[in-house]
Amino acid sequence: MEIQLHDISKAYGETQAVRGVSLTAADKQTTVLIGPSGSGKSTLLRIMIGLTQPDDGEVHIDDTPLKASTLRQQRHRMGYVIQEGGLFPHLTGYENVTLLARDLGWTKHRIEERVETLTSLVQLSPKCLLQYPTELSGGQRQRISLMRALMLDPKVLLLDEPLGALDPMIRTDLQEDLRTIFHELEKTVVFVTHNIREAAFFGDRTALLQNGRIEQTGEMETLVSNPSSSFVRSFVQAQRAPL
Ligand code: ADP
Repeated sequence: MEIQLHDISKAYGETQAVRGVSLTAADKQTTVLIGPSGSGKSTLLRIMIGLTQPDDGEVHIDDTPLKASTLRQQRHRMGYVIQEGGLFPHLTGYENVTLLARDLGWTKHRIEERVETLTSLVQLSPKCLLQYPTELSGGQRQRISLMRALMLDPKVLLLDEPLGALDPMIRTDLQEDLRTIFHELEKTVVFVTHNIREAAFFGDRTALLQNGRIEQTGEMETLVSNPSSSFVRSFVQAQRAPL
């Protein structure tokens, strides 16, 4: 499934969060959105999944405009994971993962089969599913968030800094597992980060944003070796500088 953004703009009051962005997230590829805090990455992701309406421009999914009447259906074809996981605190891991499927009337057998597949895919110990989010580590919570996002077997995965709140070692583990999962499942992935190493690790293609605009798109290597503006150069250099 391909996501196409056509000339998207979005303002919040005086703040112009996104300014005329056109971008394609190609089928079965990982597209990374990178840029400093406040550059419009999360807003773009929310627009892709229809949680935020753009002021101008259109979102097309496989050449079909995303519109209010088909939004619910489209959303079921997209999994969404945010930084802190966004799990419901009053539900166990299992209840979080299966909420939507139960709502859609899946049989118990179908739900259990799917949960078993996903538990092994994300390499989670099954007993974690019986616990509440606060009883789990950050890494376990994100594995469960990923299971929830994958439950309906969506074509698209949208991830908003999914590893941002994790300790470095857990982060590295989950990075490896995520990349394997993306390749195995052949999903269209859009991944938000502000870390260029993570962008290089995941991205088939990276779009670097600043102030609501795309500064450059391409492979991360190209952004590093052939920056198209002084902003791109300084963004890359700032992150490469030793601490
Ligand atoms: P990023 O994900 O790159 O950090 P965001 O898309 O979250 O950037 O935000 C872009 C700009 O829009 C920021 O200036 C932010 O403060 C503003 N913004 C985002 N969401 C809202 C909102 N719901 N209400 C008001 N301003 C917002």
